[in-house]
Amino acid sequence: MRAEGAPRGEDLERFSSPGKGRGLRARQRFARGELLFSCPAYTCVLTVSERGNHCECCFARKEGLSKCGRCKQAFYCNVECQKADWAMHKLECSAMCVFGQNWNPSETVRLTARILAKQKTHPERTQSEKLLAVKEFESHLDKLDNEKRELIQNDIAALHHFYSKHIEYPDNAGLVVLFAQVNCNGFTIEDEELSHLGSAIFPDVALMNHSCCPNVIVTYKGTLAEVRAVQEIEPGDEIFTSYIDLLYPTEDRNDRLRDSYFFTCDCRECITKEKDKDKLEIRRLNEPPSAETVRDMIKYARNVIEEFRRAKHYKYILCLVCELSLDKMGSVFEDSNVYMLHMMYQAMGVCLYMQDWDSALRYGEKIIKPYR
Ligand SMILES: [Zn+2]
Ligand SMILES: [Zn+2]
Ligand SMILES: [Zn+2]
Repeated sequence: MRAEGAPRGEDLERFSSPGKGRGLRARQRFARGELLFSCPAYTCVLTVSERGNHCECCFARKEGLSKCGRCKQAFYCNVECQKADWAMHKLECSAMCVFGQNWNPSETVRLTARILAKQKTHPERTQSEKLLAVKEFESHLDKLDNEKRELIQNDIAALHHFYSKHIEYPDNAGLVVLFAQVNCNGFTIEDEELSHLGSAIFPDVALMNHSCCPNVIVTYKGTLAEVRAVQEIEPGDEIFTSYIDLLYPTEDRNDRLRDSYFFTCDCRECITKEKDKDKLEIRRLNEPPSAETVRDMIKYARNVIEEFRRAKHYKYILCLVCELSLDKMGSVFEDSNVYMLHMMYQAMGVCLYMQDWDSALRYGEKIIKPYR
């Protein structure tokens, strides 16, 4: 019996995975539910909207956190957490006072600033880089289109604008590589209810390749990532995690993988597309909709989801978008169809935000139904 989270070396190894580049492989058996390894964050950043709810340093959720006396915007469990975080918080503390309402770097920029600071203060290999170092991250630089390059240049401009004081920058080319690396290797940390807490770098976790039938999942304990088996793993098996939400059908998943990670998945699920039919449950009508109608409706659903994502700050419009799209999709899709579930879930969120409890409850009950 091995101790949970014990140092690796004999039980897991880095290897060259055919067609996938480097990957992680088991050298021993792991039972379902067993912890393969844990990885402390190389660096992490609490999302702005969770300030005051969670400690900036350890991400613990607590009442009565004490705030930074200078900026009054960062909150901590105690003096120890505040001290431990100062090397990172000082990048933002005085700048937030100076910029006031105009301080608004993206979370990617905030995380990248922390990587630069960490590389300076801690140039040697860290506990989070036993098998893969941050410097070795894949950037897929050659695959960036103009739009992505432009977004990176905006991030670089924001980095210079908001963080000029405490950071030594590499040149522009070096920064482009770093942002590209963060974009494909960064993690978002979620709490138990899957709401977004922040972003982080977990180098050893980033070594794992993707599959839509993963054999492990990554969960978080504060700022520690834990990798646990969700299938039996035999010695010699490659360890696969999922980079994306697996709820959606094959085409959606691969659009997402190509857009963010520049590859198309060839796992069993992507080849057989076995679960797509259940995910795209069609209404049983007297006259079943034509294949073309279904295809059009899928296209519509995907557009509406994208539109919704972009407009997420305009709650009143969203309410309308939800109702209209559910009406329209409901003529072809069953309530258990993933696109219907997605939209109902969003609708519930909007209703909760607008304190329309009755409607929220109505959506909630519909969402739970297919799981009963
Ligand atoms: Zn803390
Ligand atoms: Zn402060
Ligand atoms: Zn797949």
